[in-house]
Amino acid sequence: MDEVYRYIDEHADSFIEDLVRLVRQPSVSAKGEGMEDCAKLVEEMMLKVGLNARILRGERGNPVVYGEVKSEKTTKTLLFYNHYDVQPPEPLEEWKYDPFSGKVADGKVYGRGAVDNKGNLVSRLKAIQAYMETAGSVPVNIKFVVEGEEEIGSPNLEPIIKKHRRLFSADAALWEFGGTDRHGRPHLYLGLKGVLSVELRAKCALKDVHSANAPLIPNAAWRLVWALSTLKDKNEKILIEGFYDGVQPPSDEEIGCLKNIPFEEKELKEELGLKQFLRGLSGFEALKALLFQPTCTINGLLSGYTGKGSKTVLPREAMAKLDFRLVPNQKPNEILRKLKRHLEVQGFSDIEIVQYGSTEPVKTPVSDPFVGLVAKTAEKVYGNKAVIYPLSAGSGPMHLFRNLLGFPVVSAGCGHPESNTHAPNENLRIESFIKGVKFIAALIDDFAKW
Ligand SMILES: [Zn+2]
Repeated sequence: MDEVYRYIDEHADSFIEDLVRLVRQPSVSAKGEGMEDCAKLVEEMMLKVGLNARILRGERGNPVVYGEVKSEKTTKTLLFYNHYDVQPPEPLEEWKYDPFSGKVADGKVYGRGAVDNKGNLVSRLKAIQAYMETAGSVPVNIKFVVEGEEEIGSPNLEPIIKKHRRLFSADAALWEFGGTDRHGRPHLYLGLKGVLSVELRAKCALKDVHSANAPLIPNAAWRLVWALSTLKDKNEKILIEGFYDGVQPPSDEEIGCLKNIPFEEKELKEELGLKQFLRGLSGFEALKALLFQPTCTINGLLSGYTGKGSKTVLPREAMAKLDFRLVPNQKPNEILRKLKRHLEVQGFSDIEIVQYGSTEPVKTPVSDPFVGLVAKTAEKVYGNKAVIYPLSAGSGPMHLFRNLLGFPVVSAGCGHPESNTHAPNENLRIESFIKGVKFIAALIDDFAKW
């Protein structure tokens, strides 16, 4: 690997230039900004590295960029999942540099997408380049699936995967995100929570009326508040019948992993100005809840007059946006069905439910040999034992790969706690980026020998 590492060090500047170029191409999926151009740029970068690349299109949605390079030595295949879309950069006034400038300063590349996910994507492409340029070819088959809708919940990925099942087959996959903590320990993630997003709408009279009519006219805001209050009690227990069906407590192995996760509890409380977490949870119990507890969250509420001063009005409609974060064995469709049933039973069949995105919870077992392989490679490259998260509190379309295509998936990447993912001043430390390229090169080498 020394020769590959040397190549990486010698070409670091050109790798950074390519990353800057990709960051400079806006690709905000929430606004449909620059998506086609960004997909073409990713395809061009893949071709430049020496991959066979093509753009896959579904009936709707942003294109998926697919890339592959075959090995002559083996049929073993490693797949990389990444995304070229980014979160909206707002609030713009909080950025030190233009979010699409790709400004290089104090050892970092700044910009929306610098880490999530363009930095991770480029680190992988460059690892393949380094390996091919030094060894002449890759030691295993490599596939890239780079989608353009991850930040909006991947609503159109499933049909594309189902249509191109063969193309997406692999023995294992490396997911899009990860990084090191402040002590240089690599963090690996073996799963994701699922999510179900809905909007609840209450509609009563045909129009808003004077609140003097309150003894007679139903109030949509009250209807909605009453309905919402039946969903969860003050101890955070979700009251929908059957909500917790199938939910398993973490296994002994998973508990073992949890105990090794550094949880920055004090920092988080300080950052948020909170004296304590919900239910007074702390330490191991707080971390366990964060990763293994399913939730019901009100994301937003809207009804009636919310302007300056007062207005004696009785609102005709009200709406709330909610998300349910789900853990393995819960299914978004079943939860939706149980939610409908719950509202009916509670006397709220008038409340309309609109479903938005959903993804299934997913995990690869701690005992899967691929987990051991990634952890060992990470330990070798970073010089520190890997921290393993059996599940992550976030969500994504990992289930399409793990459950539908059926191979183990582990997430690892080149982020850092100060990367400001999804926030202003997102940045990638150049040192982490180059280390990330080496990690990927080492991983494909170890995967071939595995
Ligand atoms: Zn993201």
